[in-house]
Amino acid sequence: MSPRRIAVVGAGYAGLAAAVELCDAGAAVEVFEASRTLGGRARAIDAEGLVLDNGAHILVGAYRETLRLMARVGADPGPLLRRTPLHLEFPGRFRIKAPRLPAPLHLAAALLGARGISLGEKFAAIRFMRAMEAAGFGIEDDEPVAELLARYRQPERLRRYLWDPLCIAALNTPAAEASSRVFLNVLRDSLAADRSASDLLLPATDFSSLFPEPAAAWLDARGARFLRETRITAVSGGEPGLSLSAGEASFGAFDAVVLAVAPYHLRRLVSQLPALAPVLEAVDRFAWEPIVTAYLAYPEQVRLPCPMAGVADGHAQWIFDRGQLCGQPGLMAAVISAHGRHEALEPDALAERIHGEIAAMLPGLPRPRWHRVITERRATFACTPGIARPATATPVPGLFLAGDYVAGDYPATIEGAVRSGVAAARAAIA
Ligand SMILES: Cc1cc2nc3c(=O)[nH]c(=O)nc-3n(C[C@H](O)[C@H](O)[C@H](O)COP(=O)(O)OP(=O)(O)OC[C@H]3O[C@@H](n4cnc5c(N)ncnc54)[C@H](O)[C@@H]3O)c2cc1C
Repeated sequence: MSPRRIAVVGAGYAGLAAAVELCDAGAAVEVFEASRTLGGRARAIDAEGLVLDNGAHILVGAYRETLRLMARVGADPGPLLRRTPLHLEFPGRFRIKAPRLPAPLHLAAALLGARGISLGEKFAAIRFMRAMEAAGFGIEDDEPVAELLARYRQPERLRRYLWDPLCIAALNTPAAEASSRVFLNVLRDSLAADRSASDLLLPATDFSSLFPEPAAAWLDARGARFLRETRITAVSGGEPGLSLSAGEASFGAFDAVVLAVAPYHLRRLVSQLPALAPVLEAVDRFAWEPIVTAYLAYPEQVRLPCPMAGVADGHAQWIFDRGQLCGQPGLMAAVISAHGRHEALEPDALAERIHGEIAAMLPGLPRPRWHRVITERRATFACTPGIARPATATPVPGLFLAGDYVAGDYPATIEGAVRSGVAAARAAIA
């Protein structure tokens, strides 16, 4: 039998995960990517003679499938990701650091040893985690995370320094609006799983080099066809299989197609497939949350007290020291997830505020040599209670969806994208 011919449209983390999985299953894979740079919403950009990212990202030990596929394509997670036990620090205000103990002792010890909260607050956090564990990290009716935390009487400081930052970092949605069901999935698989699952994995490289480029090289070595700068304009059905158009060019006939584009790129692609109307309606109901990354370049000797520092009550939420992480000394990347008051400021004014917030941590800080503010307006969908996400399989035979927005346990994250890519590949093969 000749191998099944399967197309993947989009070479972000979801599309590349699907392509690798398909290739491993023996399919003849063809990947189409609109851009020259691979990685989609997690990709490298060039600025000021440096390789930066379109947005600072972090991974955690629970990103099982991402780590598996990185290893599969020869991108050894060891040197590419700096692994540290869970360590969240708002310098001078709050600190939680997991010791190298087996689970669940690591979490209990981390909470009991946390600085900046009282003993009563530590026990409130432990009681909450135990109650969630007893409930299997499930809830009957989805509700905003803030309401769940209020029902379990989580004190204000605990929310401010622990639960709210975790929620906004994982779901890119403020606790007042975020889905408890998805948040609990994240807690189950990170804080409440084995110790390594809660480790922070801070990238030592850019996000195109972390997995997308090694995956493309691995696919190339196995004979997969890989077309960059090829924007697919339409998918059409019919006999003998699905076909793709890119302007004048057409490609087909495929036994299956995995559409791994961002949800807001779907409509144009599938206009010839009326059966996909319910999928488009579901996507149209999404609200979007932005993520801002502001790079500020200081003299090389400038260092944060830790590679990733939280900012309490600031415009920035987290500052990453790219000197300690990626060998770019003096370069700070400040991240602001979701909507907020920062949106009222022009980029230069925002960079000025963030400079003030870094200076509050590092007295005597000189002015930055340059700054660059990057706003991804539709970074992720807003992960709200009961949100309906489209399934992997579509009403069109042979057509599958992959991407961080496709139904799954996880919020819009790299791991959510990778898992959906793997699921789409397995469905396409089956
Ligand atoms: C600034 C920012 C910070 C983030 N921080 C984190 C974080 O810390 N941790 C985390 O886990 N996640 C984070 N995320 C989320 C994560 O980046 C996304 O969930 C993930 O990258 C989505 O991958 P995807 O493959 O589903 O979609 P995308 O990355 O959007 O990939 C879609 C691909 O399809 C291509 N494409 C689109 N249309 C066509 C077409 N017609 N033809 C061919 N190709 C096409 C695009 O060019 C793109 O390469 C962040 C996102 C942003 C934007």
